[in-house]
Amino acid sequence: MPLLLLSLDDTLLDRAGAFRAWATDFLGRVGAPAYDLDWLLSVDADGMGSTWDVAEAIKERYGLREAAIDLVEEIRGELMGRVRLDPLTACALAIAEDAGWVPVVVTNGETRQQEEKLRKTGLDRYLADWIISEDVGVRKPNPRIFAIAAERARMRLGGAWLIGDSPEADIGGAAGVGMRSVWLHRGRRWSEPRYAPTRTADGVIAAIAEVMASR
Ligand SMILES: [Mg+2]
Repeated sequence: MPLLLLSLDDTLLDRAGAFRAWATDFLGRVGAPAYDLDWLLSVDADGMGSTWDVAEAIKERYGLREAAIDLVEEIRGELMGRVRLDPLTACALAIAEDAGWVPVVVTNGETRQQEEKLRKTGLDRYLADWIISEDVGVRKPNPRIFAIAAERARMRLGGAWLIGDSPEADIGGAAGVGMRSVWLHRGRRWSEPRYAPTRTADGVIAAIAEVMASR
């Protein structure tokens, strides 16, 4: 039984789509020009940084008087409300599980937020387990987080695959422990010369199919 490690945001769940939808509404509400969307997306950087920094940047740009905490809560609440599990993604996970793969999410983020996302979308029902960086005290690409994932599932990392969208956190992390990986390109080109994904796919369903075909 091989282990299948998966990133959460922008791999199993479309966080970018949820952020973009909220950002578009928000910009309309403050009367900002539509081209500010690119600015807001770059400030958010796929949630890599802190939501507090995003809130502060927004406050400053639009001269908003509301407290940063209100904006932070709005962003978090809106993302939570808008993110959905694609039923076909759930289906692909179920097929992989039936074929003997053990799907475990490995995600960088806050425990409360990530667990709420897993449960609210129903994704928790399709996973053997999940490892959240805040909970275990290490972040991808640190090899330790993948070792913890294997320990929790009582499995070995040998034979495991990782599916993820982040070149550094996911593919760099997998390369660091000699694990095979599928990179979700999301329209980007691979530009890291030090390591490379085993495969590239345009979505998680295609990525799961690639992994299953590898056996
Ligand atoms: Mg991700």
